[in-house]
Amino acid sequence: MLLEVRDLRVEFRTRDGIARAVDGVGYAVDAGETLAVLGESGSGKSVTAQAVMGILDTPPGRITGGRVLFQGRDLLTLKERERRRIRGAQMAMIFQDALSALNPVLTVGDQLGEMFVVHRGMSRKDARARAVELMERVRIPAAAQRVRDHPHQFSGGMRQRIMIAMALALRPALVIADEPTTALDVTVQAQVMDLLAELRREYRMGLILITHDLGVVADVADRIAVMYAGRIVESAPVRDLYRAPAHPYTRGLLDSVPRLDRKGRELYAIKGMPPNLMRVPPGCSFHPRCPMAQDVCRTDEPPLYEVPGGRASACHFWRECLRG
Ligand code: SF4
Repeated sequence: MLLEVRDLRVEFRTRDGIARAVDGVGYAVDAGETLAVLGESGSGKSVTAQAVMGILDTPPGRITGGRVLFQGRDLLTLKERERRRIRGAQMAMIFQDALSALNPVLTVGDQLGEMFVVHRGMSRKDARARAVELMERVRIPAAAQRVRDHPHQFSGGMRQRIMIAMALALRPALVIADEPTTALDVTVQAQVMDLLAELRREYRMGLILITHDLGVVADVADRIAVMYAGRIVESAPVRDLYRAPAHPYTRGLLDSVPRLDRKGRELYAIKGMPPNLMRVPPGCSFHPRCPMAQDVCRTDEPPLYEVPGGRASACHFWRECLRG
């Protein structure tokens, strides 16, 4: 297994108390596989990714437990120097907002080339040539000229392609893309997702795709892990999850995605808001919003039940949910 996260726990200490942002999360991704991690904002999906990458803000964040096994080594036991060596070269991240992730005062050629100078010891001239190749690979027109441009001279979609090029420059084994298309319009979103999927296949890398939007992952992910209030509440192969979700929260998310075959019908909206992580409801944290909640849900926290077909659901009534 390329990456295995086991029972990861992250807390944030604030003046009002402790927020358990990640509360026993586990997932795995193999080479050539795409795992989509889905959830509303505040569900813990990005914090989990930051802990995996080793870029969590500490303090106020603190990893209080768990293991992050990357190619068999527990990253949480490594020194920062070793982690830095792994970051960029073996695992890389694509951020939502390319404009703030790229350096505004350097040309994109210098930023891309820097990766080869620092990690591969290349000359500036060779590094520049590699930067042009990379820009061509992510289909930036007139790459040989545009390599001298600064980030603000590119459109949002083109900037996101440059971010992808930077992440893939050193051919990492694992890429984590955190809402990589959220800031883009729908057509450009589809092009960027297609490009990511194509490069993932070509480089045989593991890809973790973090998103709040079920609509963008159907065609690119192999598995989905759904997070709610710091925990994984459902995980399943993508087709099975779309066909028959085993958790009412996933069902609610699916029903709130616009679909052509439901034209004219009102879109479903999950009632209420995700909980404040300092005051997570007892029992099942989803119970105040759940249309299937029973008395037991208000008192007993559901474990992550095994569901046939390599699936899992943290719902006492997953069988009923599967039946629709
Ligand atoms: Fe809903 Fe109960 Fe299942 Fe939680 S355990 S998702 S409240 S039915």
